Amino acid sequence: MPDRNGVVSLEGETALITGGATGLGFGIAHAFATAGAKVILMGRREELLRQACARLGGAAQHITGDVTDHEAAGPIIEALQQRNDFISILVNNAGNHLKKPAAETSEREFQSVLNTHVVGAFAFTRRLIPAMTERRRGSILFLASMASLMGLPLVTAYSAAKSAYLGLVRSLACELGPHGVRVNAIAPGWIETPMLERALQGDPARARRIRERTPLGGFGSPEDIGWAAVYLCSPAARFVTGAVLPVDGGASIGF
Ligand code: NAD
Repeated sequence: MPDRNGVVSLEGETALITGGATGLGFGIAHAFATAGAKVILMGRREELLRQACARLGGAAQHITGDVTDHEAAGPIIEALQQRNDFISILVNNAGNHLKKPAAETSEREFQSVLNTHVVGAFAFTRRLIPAMTERRRGSILFLASMASLMGLPLVTAYSAAKSAYLGLVRSLACELGPHGVRVNAIAPGWIETPMLERALQGDPARARRIRERTPLGGFGSPEDIGWAAVYLCSPAARFVTGAVLPVDGGASIGF
């Protein structure tokens, strides 16, 4: 066990963060790099990834890829493992959002959200499991949501996807715990990112409601999620697995 200065350090860890160039993914990458981890950002937009790596400083790497291209997950992980030896942390962060009434949501749209969040995260997770269990070391983190915990109108596909994460986390935590691999989720509240901006566009009533039910007031920042992720992936959380940590200013318990 590291001393008290090293307990929340990620020194010696290599983290792959999907959708890592923007919003929460970038907030997590920034906190991880500050805590000493080597970070690899994966996403679809090469230029954004490049810019994000430059902001993180010299050690950050990136790789282009789409989490819905499930066939590509194997080659991407192999290429990264050759470059980096061992990827000890995976953050399943990439995601899309869909806000519309259930009756107007097509099966194709519904599937696209499940495909991105659930199947996409699974495709990358399962390919990193063998190396992690072989070394008896690793941490896998899922970005869940308030939609995993409460009933929110107009986001049926998103709620189904984020609720599926809870089952994935519990099942994987039980399966991988005996092999030294921990699996947890963060359930962010309403955090200021491009996705939240799109989700609240033209809906001031929803924005007001969120503020009113958040005991700590207002919206969170990507950094708030970043530090929670550092904790969950660090030795400070070595006995924590299967957990879903709300980082929400109290919104999920707010009256
Ligand atoms: P964001 O739109 O800034 O980030 C999502 C990232 O995922 C983007 O970089 C996007 O390009 C990438 N992405 C989307 N589809 C992809 C695909 N098929 N392949 C690869 N990359 C893809 O939004 P964010 O708010 O930072 O969201 C990050 C995660 O946090 C998402 O899973 C989201 O559901 C979750 N979340 C966000 C909030 C919030 O309030 N912002 C709250 C709860 C959960």
